[in-house]
Amino acid sequence: MRDLYQILGVDRTATSDEVKKAYRRLAMKFHPDRTDNDPKKSEKFKDISAAFDVLGDPEKRKMYDEFGELATRPGFDPEQARQYAHAREASGGGFHWNGDQGSSVHSTDDFLKFIFGDMFGGGGSQAGFDDLGAGGGFGSGGGGFGFGATGRGRDLLQTLTLDFLQAIRGDQIEIHLRYQDRCPTCGGRGGRRGAGNCPACGGQGTQIIDRTLKVRIPPGADDGRKMRIRHQGTAAAAGGSPGDLVLTIRVQPHPFFTRKDRDVLVTVPITIEKALNGTKLKLETPLGKTIRLTVPAGSQQGTQLRVPGHGMQGNASQPAGDFIITLKIQLPPRITPALAEAARLLSEDVTLELPGQMQYVD
Ligand SMILES: [Zn+2]
Repeated sequence: MRDLYQILGVDRTATSDEVKKAYRRLAMKFHPDRTDNDPKKSEKFKDISAAFDVLGDPEKRKMYDEFGELATRPGFDPEQARQYAHAREASGGGFHWNGDQGSSVHSTDDFLKFIFGDMFGGGGSQAGFDDLGAGGGFGSGGGGFGFGATGRGRDLLQTLTLDFLQAIRGDQIEIHLRYQDRCPTCGGRGGRRGAGNCPACGGQGTQIIDRTLKVRIPPGADDGRKMRIRHQGTAAAAGGSPGDLVLTIRVQPHPFFTRKDRDVLVTVPITIEKALNGTKLKLETPLGKTIRLTVPAGSQQGTQLRVPGHGMQGNASQPAGDFIITLKIQLPPRITPALAEAARLLSEDVTLELPGQMQYVD
């Protein structure tokens, strides 16, 4: 795996705004819609999305800075990783975390077993993770290696990346969860006295849980919004209730559409001739409906056409927004004597009201 900062072309010191901008620029350049699904560019788009999934999330970025690529693997637990590093340092093992030396970390089998359990000893497969960029389950709450003897299970934190139109329309999404949890067979005890080890977990008391969950994403989800799904976190000790699953929604930029509050905006180029004489524009709204809009004769640069209710969809707390098309007059790339004459004609009846004391000096 290449350095995520390199993939986005930003410094390790980049602000979250700079990271976002870099991602946006690259995502627009390599978006499959813009590259005719060129396989190499689509691959690059995936890398870019995966890098932003981590660096665009302050919590995950912190983990990545501290632990490198390992932190992006499913089931990674920062507390265990720190404990392990601490133990190695204390025994003179000369253990280093920083990204440059990350490769030496990966080859340490016992380390991987410690962090992820035996399943990951062979080198950490990421199989089972979906295309939505749902990240690794960074645990939180009363965790630690023993999962706490009593009380509630831990919350699982996960990022859910939606594409722009999914966020607008809402969607039903399958989320793959993969995390270390108390063994469901022995309840975390590892076995019974005199009865040997639990066959399900080999006496460790923990297992990697792999499961799929269907989640309904309501229409109009905002970037950064958190959704709490009750009782879908890790199991609790006997008598306690499970933790929750907390999803942080990330909305990917769209090649053409942008959002302002509840409205969705797009800029459409138009020739002077069509702006002056009027035309019709056929288009698909963000809701997927094909419509024809009249561009009135005499439309100006910046004229806005509005399709009510076709922006972000409404939800319990907010009304639906509009889809707004802004016209941008495109001038010819070269001027010819005939065009210069036409431009003079076009300007004859135009009265300019310049602000303040401004004037054109020919
Ligand atoms: Zn067990």
